[in-house]
Amino acid sequence: MEILTAIVPCFNEEAVIPMFYDEIMRVAELMKNEVEFEVIMVDDGSKDKTLELIRGLRAKDKRIKVISFSRNFGKEAAMYAGLTHAHGDYVAVIDADLQHPPEMLIEMHKAIKYEGFDSACARRSTRTGENPVRAFLSRTFYSIMGKLSGIETVQGEVDYRLMSRPMVDSVLSLAERNRFTKGIFSWVGYNTKWLPYENVERAAGESKWSFRKLFKYSMQGITSFSTYPLGFVTKLGSLFCIAAFIMIIVIVVKTIVHGGDPVPGYPSLACFILFMGGVQLMCMGVIGEYIGNMYTEIKRRPVYIAKICETDDPDNDKNKNM
Ligand code: UDP
Ligand code: MG
Repeated sequence: MEILTAIVPCFNEEAVIPMFYDEIMRVAELMKNEVEFEVIMVDDGSKDKTLELIRGLRAKDKRIKVISFSRNFGKEAAMYAGLTHAHGDYVAVIDADLQHPPEMLIEMHKAIKYEGFDSACARRSTRTGENPVRAFLSRTFYSIMGKLSGIETVQGEVDYRLMSRPMVDSVLSLAERNRFTKGIFSWVGYNTKWLPYENVERAAGESKWSFRKLFKYSMQGITSFSTYPLGFVTKLGSLFCIAAFIMIIVIVVKTIVHGGDPVPGYPSLACFILFMGGVQLMCMGVIGEYIGNMYTEIKRRPVYIAKICETDDPDNDKNKNM
């Protein structure tokens, strides 16, 4: 029988794990004529009882696999760890908080197995129950991102997706350390079926994303998929050079025609210098982002460090650190 692997990143999710387990196993039961389930719960350095809970689940149900990080490496790293350890012919990534309804797996599986898609992905048709400021920022980010990188992201796309094995292998063949998964999924291509769903509030616990984390995530998203900002900086620089050149000509001509300009232009000059300083620093920052990315890529550090890896896979279990 074919295997379906569900990868579940968990960061301080003690409040929802028991509910999630019941729900996903209910769906496993519904799909038992189609696929066997394997559920990889990735503990992303949780500080609460998450690890204890998932190991407890594994003790009574061997379909549960456990990977536990030595610290919080972030959701991207957790998804990657799951992907590298998945045995499935189909592989899903799904949140632990039940915001991604597990029954959708049935429809997603159908799309891949019977309708010829390589992947099926959920997209939120509404953003109810979400902070409006955050919803706005998120929409803006994805539209900017799409324009900058040419990477197609669909409005409302969430990290809830089922993929066929060939697609998973392609995703894993991208060896970069800075992993912006949404971009990677889009970059590898394949046919994706988009399945709209109503946004639901998380079953319990709190969102693990702070604005700081989200900002970092957006910067990573843009800089790891596009070099457009670098070109933009060049254009901006050229524009200012042209403006300066025109001003020089204007001043020279004015001096020749009217004699020197006696108007004391100190305030405007100060503003202009400040403005130029700001623009220059901003441009250096943009370049710095890319250099920083190159630096982390070149070091080739592992994406994550797992201190516990119980995936019933002799090789992987030996080499815990990927
Ligand atoms: N998550 C994680 N590491 C992190 C942050 C989040 O593994 O550093 C997991 C979290 O446990 C959850 C999923 O990623 O399963 C989505 O997080 P959350 O529900 O907090 O985000 P939101 O739904 O608010 O976007
Ligand atoms: Mg959530």
